[in-house]
Amino acid sequence: MDPMRHGIGPFDPGEGAAARAPAAERPSGGRRRISVMGQEGAGLPAFHSWVAGREVEGRAGARPAVNPATGEAFARASLLDAAQAGEAVAAAQSAFPAWSRTSFRERSRLLDRLRQAIVDEADDVARLVEREQGKPFAEALAAEILPSLEALAHLSAHAEDLLRDDALEPGQLLLAHKDARLVYAPIGVVLAIKPWNYPWAQSLPVLASALVAGNTVVLKPAPAATLIGLRIGALARKAGFPDGALNVVSVDDGVAGALVEDPRIGKIVFTGSVATGKKVAAAAAKNLTPVVLELGGKDAAVVCRDADLDRTAKGIVWAAFLNAGQTCASVERVYVEREVAEAFLARVLQETARLRPRDASGEGEVGPLTLERQRRVVAEHVADAVAKGARVLTGGSPAEGPGFFYPPTVLVDVDHRMTIMREETFGPVLPIQVVASLEEAIRLANDSPYGLTASGWTRSDETARRLQRELQAGVVSINDHVSSFGEPTAPWGGVKWSGIGRIHGQAGLREMVQVKYVSLDRGRGPELWWYPYDASLAPLLSRAARALYSISLLRRLKEQLGLLRSARLWRRFGAWRLLANLDKLF
Ligand code: NAD
Repeated sequence: MDPMRHGIGPFDPGEGAAARAPAAERPSGGRRRISVMGQEGAGLPAFHSWVAGREVEGRAGARPAVNPATGEAFARASLLDAAQAGEAVAAAQSAFPAWSRTSFRERSRLLDRLRQAIVDEADDVARLVEREQGKPFAEALAAEILPSLEALAHLSAHAEDLLRDDALEPGQLLLAHKDARLVYAPIGVVLAIKPWNYPWAQSLPVLASALVAGNTVVLKPAPAATLIGLRIGALARKAGFPDGALNVVSVDDGVAGALVEDPRIGKIVFTGSVATGKKVAAAAAKNLTPVVLELGGKDAAVVCRDADLDRTAKGIVWAAFLNAGQTCASVERVYVEREVAEAFLARVLQETARLRPRDASGEGEVGPLTLERQRRVVAEHVADAVAKGARVLTGGSPAEGPGFFYPPTVLVDVDHRMTIMREETFGPVLPIQVVASLEEAIRLANDSPYGLTASGWTRSDETARRLQRELQAGVVSINDHVSSFGEPTAPWGGVKWSGIGRIHGQAGLREMVQVKYVSLDRGRGPELWWYPYDASLAPLLSRAARALYSISLLRRLKEQLGLLRSARLWRRFGAWRLLANLDKLF
């Protein structure tokens, strides 16, 4: 085996006797060593969690890392038990006070070092992604590595500005003298739970946002992409993050559930399915732990009669089959206006026919599905559609041979009675429904419990604006789809069942902080409304109500002049303060 080619990279399995030493809690930072446990996948190279800057071998057994192109295990990851996972939270919690006091300059320096560490090993990481998750090498670079580098560069350069205190201009006359600001304070320990479909690009921007904002992190990779997550831990160690600032835990879903309920967790950023997202939200509610939920999608693309059909077909075919359709924001349904349906379909079929399955050398466009069970879901959705009258124009049944391949599939004569138009398929299937009008397309696109992203394909600015306004989704793109995920200023997240909150952009960064209102009063005497409630106060306050809030200008003016005759106002508020804020009175 060529470990570089197969994505194990510098952590190659053949390191001799030292490699077989117990891995539990051994110091790390150099080359990763291998242990052999008498459990599942024994004899394969083993990888371990990162807790408090150390590589920790789990006591709860191991899970194999399976290459979806062959169905064969090539490594394994040990699993932490609940107590060990709790130690990761404790490590993050004890690292928090010092980390939250570091300057933005220091945090940016470490993000830059992490970026460089990723750049140095980019090809190797992309090969690991190809091997463990399945997307082609080029796609791993395009859709995992580059967006993560861009996010790191952006956060390093701009986080300080984006999280700078906001000075407030008070609106209330009686409070106007206070020096008031909004401070964006770190929360504490952020638990990031990640899916297998974009294990790298989904993890890096979130953990970098959390860290740069002053939080510490426990990252929980998906079972099917554990090695990729553990690699992040190794690179963070290499970059020099302080012990405990970033912990990466390989755990089973039961232990993940226990982490969600851990009261030491300050915020949860969960990316995954709607079903698990609802469970996480319910469990987090026990401690009122705030959550960001980035969940599934059933993204619609609306093809208008005036669309540039060449670009549209190429764009939609790419956005449907990218990552073998296992993209939360892949095009999962198309509504095309009847006038152009035939011409559009011909182009879609032409583009689809060009796609090659990804072969063992990494050539080709469409990789295997990451999981066998995901391939079964795809087959079930296609079978349901065909049973209800859909026609398969290409593809339509699992590929022969090893691995979890399913060919790019195009369906027509579909409608909303079919599962394929209502539930997330998460596979390389493009169902296309012909519609009579733009109205019908928008109505059908919005007839969904999901609302992650959507796209419209048109040459008209007016139609573009209408689609941007009316399509119910967290992201609406015109003449493109999905790619804003790679733009670090663009917030990412859905509406309806597609989620709560945002990652990326300023909105995503602000999810990683608590907004704190701080004020400073340099006054000496008591405030106007403090005790005693003597005879002068009530008449003064009723007059203040009329003076400040009457809708008649004349009435306000009359009462304002009356207000200025109040001795208590002058005494308590002070002449200088009153004069400085007269604009708020008048
Ligand atoms: P999943 O819901 O099965 O698992 C997601 C993560 O949750 C995994 O790490 C899993 O181990 C963990 N988990 C499972 N049970 C848990 C529990 N009880 N408590 C805590 N954690 C638990 O999702 P998946 O199959 O890994 O990912 C695919 C889904 O993710 C798709 O629906 C896809 O659309 C969605 N997704 C959404 C986005 C987005 O940005 N909105 C991005 C990528 C993927």
